[in-house]
Amino acid sequence: FYHFLTRLSPVFLIFYKLLACYASHMLKTISSLDFEGQKVLLRLDLNAPISNGQIQDDTRLQAALPTIKFLSENGAKVLILTHLGRPKGEIVESLRVDIIASALSKLLSKDVNKLDDCVDEVVKKQIDEMDFGDIVLLENTRFHPEEKLNDPEFSKELASLADIFVNDAFGVVHRSHASTLGVTEHLPSYAGFLLEKEIEVLSDILKAPQTPVCLIMGGAKIDTKIGVLEKFLDKADSFLIGGALANTFIAAKGFEVGTSLFQEDKVDVAKDFMSKCEATFIPVDFVVSEEISKDAVARNLLQNEATSNDKILDIGPKTIDVFLEKIASAKTIIWNGPMGLYEFDQFAKGTLAIAQAVADSDAISVVGGGDSIDAIKNFNIPLDAFTHVSTGGGAMLEFLEGKPLPALQALMS
Ligand code: ADP
Ligand code: MG
Repeated sequence: FYHFLTRLSPVFLIFYKLLACYASHMLKTISSLDFEGQKVLLRLDLNAPISNGQIQDDTRLQAALPTIKFLSENGAKVLILTHLGRPKGEIVESLRVDIIASALSKLLSKDVNKLDDCVDEVVKKQIDEMDFGDIVLLENTRFHPEEKLNDPEFSKELASLADIFVNDAFGVVHRSHASTLGVTEHLPSYAGFLLEKEIEVLSDILKAPQTPVCLIMGGAKIDTKIGVLEKFLDKADSFLIGGALANTFIAAKGFEVGTSLFQEDKVDVAKDFMSKCEATFIPVDFVVSEEISKDAVARNLLQNEATSNDKILDIGPKTIDVFLEKIASAKTIIWNGPMGLYEFDQFAKGTLAIAQAVADSDAISVVGGGDSIDAIKNFNIPLDAFTHVSTGGGAMLEFLEGKPLPALQALMS
């Protein structure tokens, strides 16, 4: 019998460990909570692109609707908090959230009042006067310098408006601000539906991805991307590097990059990565121009043909072929960052080819990043051609990288 027990104990131990691990990583969610008669502070990411006083893209508003509706229909006073743009801790008239409130109101077919601040006695009185089920939008949180500093007094003030905190702002879940982290110290805190979905999909990708895994990285900033590449060293089977990010890798190979956007101080990081990872694919050819403008003349060059006046602005046709072959054989594809300066037609072909190939693929595909999604929309590729389109760029990268995200941790049981 003793023998039998000792044989079994490792099995129990594994089972117990799994259980403990699972339990300690449970996101507290809202679906089974009772919100009747509660004041709920709801942090959303409604930071939509606005120009000429018009919302250019309401994807973030649309994505927030299910949680807003759920809270309102379940009898809560819904107090929505968001940031908008970069006011740097000051009141900036053009970054007031009135336009967001009226857009939300249209989408919900329900009044959404905008309050003129996000803390203070006037705001509290207006909240007291609300009916349960009503929705208000508080003024831009980043008008207060205390927001980004995660100031304890300001966090307490925000928390004092409500009974419960719900965070559904995946786009800023990697930020430790008063409205994402500070408030969680004072209120019972939960994840909204959008955040829950994002974490579920991205966790699955990390835990047990279907192989081969293809990681496609482009865009501008190598700092925010290199960590993810490193994290996936053992997880991905191919690394396709494009965009300005690739220029740093091309320079690391010792080739001329002319006046291209690249990060000189990260050349060694790129070199180191390539020495560790044979499955790194960088452009073997590219599209260059001497200037960036609507009528810029684009030329195709091989990897070693750029001169000191050239800017590398897109991946070339040979590179597209290499990348498409890798994409075709992948079972899981993670893509962040455009392959080139897609805002100009001459330099959009690489991004278009990759977007189309990922959309056509039967693999599990996850795409994130504001510009990547903007590019996909410009190409009129339907978003539902991808398994998951993340509403967060930086947040998605930091989550995949395995960085601790305190604002997310605060929503775990
Ligand atoms: P995302 O928002 O999808 O995470 P990033 O913000 O990292 O992507 O980068 C997108 C920006 O990088 C776009 O404005 C795009 O034009 C630019 N870009 C991509 N490739 C190049 C390049 N070779 N040279 C200059 N800019 C580039
Ligand atoms: Mg971007």
